[in-house]
Amino acid sequence: MSRTHLFDDVTFFASAVHERDLPASSGVEVAFAGRSNAGKSSALNALVRRHRLAFVSKTPGRTQQINFFSLGAGRFLVDLPGYGYAKVPGAMKQSWQELLSGYLQTRDQLRGLVVLMDARHPLTPLDRQLLDWFAPTGRPAHVLLTKADKLPKQEAARQLRGVGERLAADYHGSSVQLFSATTRQGVDDAEALLAKWFDAV
Ligand code: GDP
Repeated sequence: MSRTHLFDDVTFFASAVHERDLPASSGVEVAFAGRSNAGKSSALNALVRRHRLAFVSKTPGRTQQINFFSLGAGRFLVDLPGYGYAKVPGAMKQSWQELLSGYLQTRDQLRGLVVLMDARHPLTPLDRQLLDWFAPTGRPAHVLLTKADKLPKQEAARQLRGVGERLAADYHGSSVQLFSATTRQGVDDAEALLAKWFDAV
């Protein structure tokens, strides 16, 4: 499949609130995760170029679930619940942890993880927690440093370098790029990487 068609046919597939609800499928999944407000919904919409698809979920009640979107041809894009939302009560945080860590550690179909981080505040402890859960699987993680348009070019380049160095030290096989849903900086690169992951079966 050529990469220009990767996201041509996105449809909602399923939601899971508990691990037992995760859809059985023989497909290939790429998951997106990030702190609430990191720009995940905006990035997903920029990638699929469909502003009316519901990649928007702000309230804690709605964010605590995993949403699966089918791209056709056995490919799935997985929208993981945003984390670090201050108003989420303790009990919810725990069920979030169980759902997310379980999914990241044991999901066979999961080929790669995209982690969205605000380019101005990358690699927070919760971001590292997520990478720590996923790292033992040996599969690649890719960091999108979002809202790059909010930083002067030199500062963005400095963040890119810094995060690249820290990832190389702690998370073998991971990668990082600058991204902006607003200017579409990095959209093509992200899409090319996803196409590679989906095809590397
Ligand atoms: P989510 O909670 O991770 O899904 O984050 P959203 O996609 O809803 O974005 C959070 C806020 O950041 C919103 O106010 C967006 O308009 C803003 N935002 C997201 N991406 C960008 C970007 O690339 N550039 C700028 N300037 N703002 C962005």
